[in-house]
Amino acid sequence: MLTNDQLSRWDQDHFFHPSTALGAHARGEAPGMIIKTAEGCHITDRNGNRMLDAFAGLYCVNIGYGRQEVAEAIAAQARELAYYHSYVGNGTEASITLAKMVTDRAPDGMNRVYFGQGGSDANETNIKLVWYYNNILGRPEKKKIISRWRGYHGSGLMSGSLTGLSLFHKKFDLPLDKVLHSTAPYFFQRENVAQTEQEFTAQCAADLEEMIAREGADTIAAFIAEPVIGTGGIVPPPEGYWEAIGAILKKHDILLIADEVITGFGRLGTMFGSPFYGMDPDIITIAKGLTSAYAPLSGSVVHDRVFEVLARGTDENGPLGHGWTYSAHPIGAAAGVANLKLLDSLGLVDNAADVGPYLTAQMRAALGEHPHLGEIRGVGMLTALELVAKPGTREGFDPAAKVVPQIAAAMARRGVIARAMPQADIVGFSPPLCLTRAEADTIVGVTAEAVAEVLG
Ligand code: PLP
Repeated sequence: MLTNDQLSRWDQDHFFHPSTALGAHARGEAPGMIIKTAEGCHITDRNGNRMLDAFAGLYCVNIGYGRQEVAEAIAAQARELAYYHSYVGNGTEASITLAKMVTDRAPDGMNRVYFGQGGSDANETNIKLVWYYNNILGRPEKKKIISRWRGYHGSGLMSGSLTGLSLFHKKFDLPLDKVLHSTAPYFFQRENVAQTEQEFTAQCAADLEEMIAREGADTIAAFIAEPVIGTGGIVPPPEGYWEAIGAILKKHDILLIADEVITGFGRLGTMFGSPFYGMDPDIITIAKGLTSAYAPLSGSVVHDRVFEVLARGTDENGPLGHGWTYSAHPIGAAAGVANLKLLDSLGLVDNAADVGPYLTAQMRAALGEHPHLGEIRGVGMLTALELVAKPGTREGFDPAAKVVPQIAAAMARRGVIARAMPQADIVGFSPPLCLTRAEADTIVGVTAEAVAEVLG
């Protein structure tokens, strides 16, 4: 077996990691973990350190690690048929079955799935579909896309442009034109602290109306948003937000793309996040929980009202000129089928509705009085702990002090993985949906100890 030293050497010298400080990693100053096995909510590294993964990888291992049913479905699929493409109407039992299972679970009218590999490419697909749709409808000017500051929609050219975090734009010449960013529905960090939640919702709606008026509704094709902001800080929307935004979009004939890469398949304690918030999307982006990351797979779930126009378009123009070699990859599809069966049979959506709010409540009980606490918020199996530099203010820490990364490191030393969220003073939690109350207690206990170690 390779030694850890050997692997670390190769890792520093040859592995170009995503979302990593490249120089520091190559110099050996910022080594990552080398994970070997995992089961349930726990991962184990090559040194035998077992850790509770309170972030489910990257909010994706919804059913938990090590489920043999999924491993066996993948192996059986690989033995029977590792690959065939899905161009020109081809399919496999797994991909067709998964399309049926996804649309059975999706909101009414969402009856078609275009499968991709990951969330970023699914959002690239979505924007192309929306442009195609407006060309078929004879509206060639209606092409701009509105997303929100602090939204996260991926790292591609378009999906990275839609993302509303400057870290993902800086030095990459992004965002591309045609992308506009509207107000982040981030009540805790609202500009006008005197506003109530309802007033802040009204402000977000007014800002959107103003942007649409300024640009012209006939130039705006779609609004893309996560039901709950994820990577931008785990931020549930303020009260009444989706009713207000949905009404504006309908009024101006602007499509709604609900990016449910995180919220899809149970994370909010409901199968999808859109119905939870009363959203009426035209397209839903899915990935992560679709296979619980046992294999890469994503999808664009398309409403009948959009699909009908697209189908008319291909009648008039020939086949859709948009496809990936790995669209609906049979191994991903087999993983998806087995994953969704387990999500149901283990009752994991209900467990998320039970244990998630428990985790948030216990976090409040343990840290609610801490002088550096800004806010503890959460919905379903998503919790955020936002810290402030000066008690009683909303002032952030000096980023150079790396306060939240230090807290995450102190937690890891105690055997719990949480995420220091980018561009914020937020510790994020998004555990597997199979989390138990006892495991939630461990997360809370370790968080409180780590916060005490770093901030007193
Ligand atoms: N959309 C959302 C809401 C996400 O959280 C992510 C990833 O975290 C993506 C899109 C991009 O997905 P991927 O990393 O699979 O490309």
